[in-house]
Amino acid sequence: MTENRQTLLVVDDEPTNIRVLRELLKSDYTVLAATSGEKALQIMESDDCPDLILLDIILPGIDGYEVCKRLKADERHKFIPVIFITSQTTEEDEVKGFNAGAVDYITKPLSAPIVKARVKMHLEVKELREHFKKLSMRDGLTGIGNRVCFDNCLEQEWKRMQREKASLSLIFCDVDFFKKYNDHYGHQEGDKCLQVVASIIKKTANRPADSVARYGGEEFTVILPNTDSEGAVELAENIRLAIQNREIPHAASTASRFVSLSLGVATVIPSQKITPEKFIALADSALYKAKQNGRNRVIFHIV
Ligand code: GH3
Ligand code: MG
Ligand code: MG
Repeated sequence: MTENRQTLLVVDDEPTNIRVLRELLKSDYTVLAATSGEKALQIMESDDCPDLILLDIILPGIDGYEVCKRLKADERHKFIPVIFITSQTTEEDEVKGFNAGAVDYITKPLSAPIVKARVKMHLEVKELREHFKKLSMRDGLTGIGNRVCFDNCLEQEWKRMQREKASLSLIFCDVDFFKKYNDHYGHQEGDKCLQVVASIIKKTANRPADSVARYGGEEFTVILPNTDSEGAVELAENIRLAIQNREIPHAASTASRFVSLSLGVATVIPSQKITPEKFIALADSALYKAKQNGRNRVIFHIV
């Protein structure tokens, strides 16, 4: 499966060493190479970010320890495993390598099967970590993001929009009279209804940066970076209509014959003057007003 091929970066100032490692690993992985710490850091800034790094310690310019420390201090790269490959063999050297953040330490002369086995093991650990991270952010019932995903995404987008001085919008969606839906149709049907609602919201908020999550129970959120209030209200209205048009019968609702949503929308340009918590409270209070004003509607929070 070529598209799933993992990429390794070999950093060594000695081209012969790069050649040896490339020959050893190229049948299983895509192998990139850098002959200095600076070049390695440059590659890390490109789209070709590797899954694992084999790093020589003694390099011209910034040495391997320093390259490793910088990578570990960078949020984007801190979980990319770094293996030192070196002829420095004292215990002190090895400890220094681990303190810099390396996951492993292989000494020269290299043993081909040991290099292969260690690389394979660390890539497996990395994949497992990513798998569990993804699992921890998914909602089991609906398959969309969960509360952890919402919190992470809001924190990230808050910072990004603050840097860009751009609008960030948030939509809170809550199923109307959902307790009555459960009482009338049963909890299992309620679960199915939540799955349908989640998939409709996900399909409607379809820009790459839009992030849909199940905030809790029958409440869903949509985070919309680079989206002003008009855009967010329009999307919220589209979500409301898409749910209505699915015509899921809700005989116990007084808001509509069908399952409906109330939606609260808030927009900010993030700054020091407002906190993410306050922003959430704005969207939540708009949702509360939508409920009070008759449900099955969108309300934008006016400050
Ligand atoms: P409102 O229109 O004011 O939002 O009324 P509501 O009944 O929707 O709101 P309320 O908060 O009183 O009730 C929410 C209901 O959602 C109660 C709870 O049992 C149900 N619920 C929460 N999570 C799930 C779930 O995972 N599956 C099912 N079937 N029901 C759930
Ligand atoms: Mg509700
Ligand atoms: Mg609710």
